[in-house]
Amino acid sequence: MTVLSPANVTDAFVSLRGVGKTYASPRGPVAALVDIDLDIKRQEFVSVVGPSGCGKSTLLKLVAGLESISCGRALIAGQPLDGPPDRLGVVFQRDVLLDWRSILDNVLLSIDFRRTPNKQERGRARDLLQRFGLSGFEHRYPWELSGGMRQRASICRALLADPELLLMDEPFGALDAMTRDDLNVELAQIWQDTRKTLLFITHSIVEAVFLSDRVVMMGKAPGRIVETIAIDLPRPRRLAIRDSAEFAAYVHRIRHHFAELGIVKE
Ligand code: ADP
Repeated sequence: MTVLSPANVTDAFVSLRGVGKTYASPRGPVAALVDIDLDIKRQEFVSVVGPSGCGKSTLLKLVAGLESISCGRALIAGQPLDGPPDRLGVVFQRDVLLDWRSILDNVLLSIDFRRTPNKQERGRARDLLQRFGLSGFEHRYPWELSGGMRQRASICRALLADPELLLMDEPFGALDAMTRDDLNVELAQIWQDTRKTLLFITHSIVEAVFLSDRVVMMGKAPGRIVETIAIDLPRPRRLAIRDSAEFAAYVHRIRHHFAELGIVKE
C-alpha cells in the first residue's frame, strides 16, 4: 500500500504536475503533451477543448492509466497513477458496443468478464437504461439502434459500476446536432444527480461551456494548457441557458482566445 506523505497529499482528486508525454514513432519522438499542470476536484466537471492533434485524447488516456506519463507527476486520490484507477468509467467517441450482445448484456459487460452478473446488477443496468430512455431496448442489438441510442447505452455501461471518475472522449462528436443537444442535457442532469468527477474532451466550445464547472483550453501541438476558465452559470442547465448573455460571453471569451492563438477565425 502506498503511504500518503505530505508531498503527495492533495485536495484534488486528479492532480497532474509538469506532466509530459512523448510518443515514439517511426519518424522520431512526437511530443504530444508538454508541462501539463491540472487539478480536478472531486465531483468537478472539467472539459478540455482544443484543436485536433493538440493532445486531448492523450491527456484522457494518461488519466485513464492507458498510457504512461513520460515525465512529471500524476496522482489520483493522492496515489501515484499506475495503471487504470479503481472505479473508473470511460466513454469514447465510437461506442465500442459488441454487436453480438444485446444492449443489456453490453451494459453488463465489465461484470460479465469476471463472473455472472447478479440480480441487483441486472436491475441496476435496467434502471440505467430506463433513465436514458432505453426501456424496451434491453434485448435489442446495437445494430438495431440509432447512434444516439448506442451512445446512451455506452454511458449506461460506464456508469454501471458507479465509478468515482468518469472520462469521456468526444462522446457526442459523431452525433447529429439535435441528438447531441439532447445528450448534453441528459449528461448535465445525470452529472448533477450523481456528481461524478468528470473529465470531458470536446471540440465544441458551446458544449464545454454548457456542461462544465471549468473549461481547460489547449493550444496547438505540442499540447499545452493555454487557459483555464471557471464557468459560473447556474444549474440545473437547460438548453435555454445558451441564449443568455452570460453564456454567450463565455463562448466569446474562449473563441476570442483561440482566435488570438490563430486556432480559429473570428
Ligand atoms: P487530439 O485528441 O487532441 O486530437 P491526440 O492526443 O490524439 O490529439 O494526439 C496528440 C499528438 O500525438 C498528435 O500529433 C498525434 O499524431 C500523436 N499521437 C497520438 N497517439 C500516438 C501514438 N500512439 N503514437 C505516436 N503518436 C501519437
